[in-house]
Amino acid sequence: MTDKDKVKDLLKEQGAMTIAVGPGQAVRISLNKKGEIVKEIVQMPVKKIDPALVAKANKRFEWLINFLICRYHFVHRTLSMMRKFPDTTVSTMGVRVVAAGKFELYYNPEWFDARTDAQGVYVFVHEVLHVILHHCTTRQFDDHDLGNIAQDLAINELITEVNGICEKPRDKNGNLIGVFVDELKKQPLLKDIQNKQTAEWYYNYLRQKQKEQESKGKGKKGDGKVDLGTTMDDHGGFKEHEIADERVRALVRELDSCKMWGSMPQGDVELILQAQVKKVNWRNKMRQWWGSQLAKMKYSTRKRPNRRFGYIMPGFKKAYEDTWLVVIDTSGSTWGYGLLGQFLNIINQMVEEGVPIDLMLVDCEVQTEPKPYERRKAQYEFKGLGGTSMEPVMKVVEERKYRGVCIATDGEFAAPTKPSHAQVLWAVPKGKNPPVEWGERIYIEQV
Ligand SMILES: [Zn+2]
Repeated sequence: MTDKDKVKDLLKEQGAMTIAVGPGQAVRISLNKKGEIVKEIVQMPVKKIDPALVAKANKRFEWLINFLICRYHFVHRTLSMMRKFPDTTVSTMGVRVVAAGKFELYYNPEWFDARTDAQGVYVFVHEVLHVILHHCTTRQFDDHDLGNIAQDLAINELITEVNGICEKPRDKNGNLIGVFVDELKKQPLLKDIQNKQTAEWYYNYLRQKQKEQESKGKGKKGDGKVDLGTTMDDHGGFKEHEIADERVRALVRELDSCKMWGSMPQGDVELILQAQVKKVNWRNKMRQWWGSQLAKMKYSTRKRPNRRFGYIMPGFKKAYEDTWLVVIDTSGSTWGYGLLGQFLNIINQMVEEGVPIDLMLVDCEVQTEPKPYERRKAQYEFKGLGGTSMEPVMKVVEERKYRGVCIATDGEFAAPTKPSHAQVLWAVPKGKNPPVEWGERIYIEQV
């Protein structure tokens, strides 16, 4: 099936599709009577941009950006490399990645007109921090809405208010626009939220709180709901983009080598520098492990030429079953929320690629029999009881001649016997280790 056929199928299902290509313009794709694909440019209903307002914004942009040069040199440097674009399809302001990995600052002129200069500075710093912390270029959260809130909380913690120079944006009634840690702290349910944390920290914290609320709130209504509010700006233009990501790294190297951080405290600068380190993702490592095992497996079962007899005929006795075993030690308490889900996602992918996988659950009391892994059923709770035995697992691996075993555990058990042939991969939370030297290990952490 060609791409064209796929598009045709989609159009048959959904009718016409309209794709925005720029402010006020879109391409409409549909099928004509002959069943051919037709493209046409259509104008989208956009509110007219008042040129006077744009001119005014431009003037203020210029003044404000130049004003930033001493105190906020890095903000000035970052903003000066961005195109500014009035856009009435958004209600606030935002940064987006455009062609060739460049950045664009888009804004609603009316919204910007309602901001004071000091608020303008705050929002500029906010947008620039999104860029240099790689928020716009790496999608890292499953729940985008919550991720947006978490990123804004982390960023706003890095912006110091200075009266008359840099102030949090407020609406006509003087209410704050955006999300702030100190504001959330006022809600009894969130009183233990901490200042100066990373977006990942806020994300996990809020997700945990939501989960607690969901389990408590069953049956009851409106009781102690967590109210998170909304971000101060638009995050709709965030998308993964490696070239843009590289550009950000180059920019931050320049900012740092030229000491352009202005009045930013050293601790905050460190946080920005840390965000530049490319994280070697444990999920990729785990996929690689499976990949390399499968490659080895193919190699060893391929027909190989023999010097004396040419090709050995296939059909020599297989020493092992090809099935792999995945073990989940449910007694562990240190696996954070969501990590098990990510672990299982990788197992799901392996099953989809045709790797036969059995699953076995162990905790301090029971061991289940290995059963073929079922994708849909994958919901397991960690009980946090501590202590388990891996010896029965190794016995099963040995008896059933598994090719390999991947064990998700917190490592709290007595050293078991090493299996004689099976490959072993320990998946342990960061900071933990299995009590043995053998087997490969992967450290699971929130990334
Ligand atoms: Zn934001």
